Amino acid sequence: MTLLDGKQIANEIKTEIATEVKSLVDNGQDTPHLAAVIVGEDNAAKTYINSIERTCKEVGFISSIYQCPEKVTEEELLGILDFLNQDSEVDGYIIQMPLPKHLSSKRIIERINPDKDVDCMHPSNIGKLVTGDTLFIPATPLGTIELIKRSHIETEGKHCVVLGRSAIVGKPLALLLAEKSATGNATVTICHSKTKNLKEVCAQADILLVAIGQAEMIDAEYVKEGATVIDIGIHRVDDSTREKGYRICGDVQFDEVSKKAAYITPVPGGIGQMTMASLLLNTFKAYKHKRTQTT
Ligand code: NDP
Repeated sequence: MTLLDGKQIANEIKTEIATEVKSLVDNGQDTPHLAAVIVGEDNAAKTYINSIERTCKEVGFISSIYQCPEKVTEEELLGILDFLNQDSEVDGYIIQMPLPKHLSSKRIIERINPDKDVDCMHPSNIGKLVTGDTLFIPATPLGTIELIKRSHIETEGKHCVVLGRSAIVGKPLALLLAEKSATGNATVTICHSKTKNLKEVCAQADILLVAIGQAEMIDAEYVKEGATVIDIGIHRVDDSTREKGYRICGDVQFDEVSKKAAYITPVPGGIGQMTMASLLLNTFKAYKHKRTQTT
């Protein structure tokens, strides 16, 4: 079994970006700038903010955080987006999801300037995924495809089973794998909670990509001998044997499945790291796109 080391590959991507940013800034160009809009102040928000600030710093990007109270009104939030849409110094921004129930996610997402939509949430960017001419790809599917590409896993002609059909992970990932491209050309099956004979379908996969949000549900019976297994799930589960009282795991039972798979991603250290690196890739793309529009 070979471990698909998302942490190492993410570090490679960050080094490449940092080198290019340094050279641009040394030549008098602007510094890329990622903003994040966060609603609420819970632990997830704090972790997310820390990770954005730390990662941007690593590659030489500016980051700015717009933290709103949980009770922010829709008009106030839209006002922040209007400001970010206009601000020529901000190349891209993200909005932490899910939003509190009193806010219309649809209305808010539709207000994002598609050219700054580095999380690829705006309907026009999602639509372009289907036609294959998108500027951005959602960060987790992009990270997954980058990991596959940089690990030299062949997708052409392979049977990829994508477990999960969410709009941010499963569906875009399936589209990318089926795309006529060097990192696509696969035969793709999408599974979900209504799929019959799930084990049998998954066990036919050359590449099994799991994003179901069910901690360690996928055991060795779902996996063909010698398959590649990409675990996108991420969970914090109670574990009294650990100092912190919990451990992080994915949707796949790593110990069991890793004995059967040829390639597998760990959790943590797999797709999570690639997702953050992909956000940087998208921000850098937005930065370069802006320069082509202004020159
Ligand atoms: P969603 O909850 O939006 O979607 C889950 C999908 O899995 C749905 O399509 C659902 O089917 C399907 N599903 C759920 N339970 C089962 C089951 N028992 N059998 C078959 N299918 C099932 O999740 P997301 O796509 O947002 O996220 C998936 C996982 O990936 C989560 O663990 C999440 O934390 C993680 N994640 C990790 C990221 C990272 O950076 N590593 C980023 C984003 C997500 P149905 O449609 O029928 O309900």
